[in-house]
Amino acid sequence: ILHVENLQKAYHGQEVLKSVDFEIRKGQVKAVLGPSGSGKSTMLRLMALLEPSDGGSIKLRGETIGTKEHRGRTVHLPERLLARQRQDIGMVFQKFNLFPHLPAVRNVMLGLTSVKGVSHHEARELAMEMLQRVGLENRAEHYPSELSGGQQQRVAIARALVLNPSVMLFDEPTSALDPELVGEVLDVMENLAADGMTMIVVTHEVRFASRVASEVSLFDGGVIVEQAAPDQFFNNPKHERTKRFLSHVH
Ligand code: ATP
Ligand code: MG
Repeated sequence: ILHVENLQKAYHGQEVLKSVDFEIRKGQVKAVLGPSGSGKSTMLRLMALLEPSDGGSIKLRGETIGTKEHRGRTVHLPERLLARQRQDIGMVFQKFNLFPHLPAVRNVMLGLTSVKGVSHHEARELAMEMLQRVGLENRAEHYPSELSGGQQQRVAIARALVLNPSVMLFDEPTSALDPELVGEVLDVMENLAADGMTMIVVTHEVRFASRVASEVSLFDGGVIVEQAAPDQFFNNPKHERTKRFLSHVH
């Protein structure tokens, strides 16, 4: 469903993504591990069309997104088209980025009413459905400051889900949470995976990765060093780099 080829990105002449290639099929969950600064967040931001790439291509459901070929050259699409394509990609950040002046249900509704032009009434119904799905239907009128970090992150997940994306990208969704709140967010994500959502999850949660992921990747130095099924990845990694990385996290 998602096909990334030779994706590249540099900042100030510094290559952050050298060449990223992978494919993920519908319903698969890909966990991405890797050291700090290796380019994991950059890769997700490029896939979410939040930043232009410097090269390579991203195909979602068979369609190239973010760029097009024009007279033999690759050009970036205008913002208007990017905005439409972005709706098909849900993104959840480490920091929840909710609007503090809006209650939970309004945060979830916003994309529907402002981007998709859904009526207020219908948006509220869909938003309530999503809040129910993340176990927060009884917190709909709470403001972000009245919610725990784990609850705020579940609202952020509902906000992404309500647009009905083909793929969900998670960037260390539990890293900003107190340890006792991590589980409730991982549970929501695990349910989502069980419901067949296609997901890419950048995470340090090794146990989550080994239990939920279809495939685990080690990202380092702007490339995917190793990708394998969780059992193989954690118990019998091929690359020296992976063994070294795992010796630090286990
Ligand atoms: P972490 O585990 O700490 O989140 P990461 O793997 O997500 O790290 P990135 O955030 O993708 O790493 O950053 C990769 C490199 O790119 C870093 O050296 C970072 O300083 C640099 N970088 C990221 N975004 C920008 C930017 N907007 N401008 C300049 N440099 C950037
Ligand atoms: Mg990051």
